[in-house]
Amino acid sequence: MSACTASQPIVAAYDGLVCDLDGVVYRGGDAVPGAPETLQRLVADGIRLVYATNNASRVAGDVAAQLASLGAPATDADVVSSAQAGAARLRGELPAGARVLALGGAGVAQALTGVGLVPVQPADVDFDGMRSPAHPPARSVPAAEVSAVLQGFGRNVSVGDFEIAARLLTLGPIWVGTNDDATLPLPWGRSPGNGAYLDLLAVAAGRRPVVVGKPHPPLYRLALDRLGTPASRTLAVGDRLATDIDGARAADLDSAWVLTGVDLPSDLVVTQSSPTYVIAALGELLAPYAVPQRVGDEWRCGRAAVAHADAGLVVRQGSSEPMETVRAGLAALLEARDTGATPARLRDEARTLDRVVEQLLAGGQEPTDHHDDHGGHDERSVANR
Ligand SMILES: [Mg+2]
Repeated sequence: MSACTASQPIVAAYDGLVCDLDGVVYRGGDAVPGAPETLQRLVADGIRLVYATNNASRVAGDVAAQLASLGAPATDADVVSSAQAGAARLRGELPAGARVLALGGAGVAQALTGVGLVPVQPADVDFDGMRSPAHPPARSVPAAEVSAVLQGFGRNVSVGDFEIAARLLTLGPIWVGTNDDATLPLPWGRSPGNGAYLDLLAVAAGRRPVVVGKPHPPLYRLALDRLGTPASRTLAVGDRLATDIDGARAADLDSAWVLTGVDLPSDLVVTQSSPTYVIAALGELLAPYAVPQRVGDEWRCGRAAVAHADAGLVVRQGSSEPMETVRAGLAALLEARDTGATPARLRDEARTLDRVVEQLLAGGQEPTDHHDDHGGHDERSVANR
């Protein structure tokens, strides 16, 4: 846990910020309310900022342009992608000018070019004059001259492209996957992510790629290089526990888990994730942060006091700061997690904290806000409501 106390804002302990994008700065095409303004303020205050995204398909310039259009501070160099981390990894093993199969969207090929490697499209690989039925015979690069495969998500990658990559992989080139997110969230639900396509090719090729995106350390390490700040003075910010938060720990970075994205308290309590900070939205980076403390049989955070009893989570004292109640409640549940409470029960009990967050982010009244200036005898069970 950081030395940060309730008397200073979270950012006071850091010089650099590695910020996730979807679920933190924007959701779909819209800005997360207040996020661009917070980022502008942080940069104005002298904090170094880069964005780190597992999305390998888009080129950095497009991402930066989208951020700028939403009012967030961004140049092309501020966007660090898993495709760039993959290209950097390959450049560490290959000479300039080496040819690499670019299996994925435009971001994959551009990242290779950016480090002095030469992207090769699947349609251009020649296997001793033999043709894939998916492509016409207009090939220019002998398969033996392709030193590596960089695989990232690309909506236009075809079955024929996978066949060429699978065949190429039998020749033994280096194989790097940009990220292994199993699913990709779309408006209607979950679709296959790059991890699913890595698995598809792994089954055919009988081998596994090296993966560089979050939660693996290389993407965060590239972001640190870009920032020029030491790990001890750099904070990773993200909404996904399994990628952003677990990746930060793997890279020895403190992390702020933001609740404007996909994961909620009921998700945290069934993982082994341990974010340094739990914040509802980016703006809380600029506010004092009270660290939960165990006092007697309860957890206190700021004015909030929460205990975990047989009946469930009990808010003994609420707070005018809803997130203090959430943090105290989470601390109580994580302690219960570590002492053997079942995942099903923990998830059920944490749903009441989900609702606090959802109402807070919706701008509504916080349901457990309840002052008791005379002591801790105003117990209310908030579980199972
Ligand atoms: Mg995200």
